[in-house]
Amino acid sequence: MTSSNSPQTVVIVGGGCAGILTRNTLAAKLGLTSSIKIVLITPRPYHNHLPGTLRMLVSNEGHLEERNFMYFPEEFNAGNKEVIIAKVVSIVDEGNNRHVVLDNGETVAYTVLLFTPGSVWEGPVAFPQEKDGDLDWVKTWRDRFEKANEIVLVGGGSVSIGTCHANAFDLNIVDGDCRARW
Ligand SMILES: Cc1cc2nc3c(=O)[nH]c(=O)nc-3n(C[C@H](O)[C@H](O)[C@H](O)COP(=O)(O)OP(=O)(O)OC[C@H]3O[C@@H](n4cnc5c(N)ncnc54)[C@H](O)[C@@H]3O)c2cc1C
Repeated sequence: MTSSNSPQTVVIVGGGCAGILTRNTLAAKLGLTSSIKIVLITPRPYHNHLPGTLRMLVSNEGHLEERNFMYFPEEFNAGNKEVIIAKVVSIVDEGNNRHVVLDNGETVAYTVLLFTPGSVWEGPVAFPQEKDGDLDWVKTWRDRFEKANEIVLVGGGSVSIGTCHANAFDLNIVDGDCRARW
């Protein structure tokens, strides 16, 4: 099934900072009456603000999960704008046959494709990228931090410092040219 028959469709893959900023800038420039359709495709109905996840993952203080998952406003689905909650699994680019294939089997035609899928992270910030998986993920990591007797963070960069700052436990940070082990 093709969910868009519009002759002019901009498809943005990834609802992170880059995708949202691009979408909003484009929507503002095109205005409400434009016939060009803007489709944002992303696995969750919200933006997971990564800088805020460190504190959210190690402690339930302040229930940051209620604020860190920022749901897309209704205007993202108004007029010729649409958000599709799905993951893109492949791209077809064969002459006039240009579409992306979603993990639910549907396809979405595009005129212009913008790809903003972010980075692949490891450890606690490697969120499952599934609509319903993030809260369980947060709970699992909070439990692990809570039950840990000792936590060693390898590397003294912003992620380590942020985790340390957010954590009530005593932490050792070992700075060096190696990868963090969780
Ligand atoms: C713990 C942590 C702390 C950070 N702190 C800071 C900070 O203080 N300041 C700062 O400037 N930066 C910080 N960063 C980096 C910052 O979060 C990233 O640079 C920024 O999120 C990149 O934005 P993005 O849109 O490219 O990717 P993301 O925000 O990762 O968004 C990518 C989106 O694409 C989606 N996606 C991926 N694959 C697909 C697919 N196949 N189909 C559909 N959607 C897909 C993802 O689900 C996600 O929603 C931090 C990162 C981390 C992990």
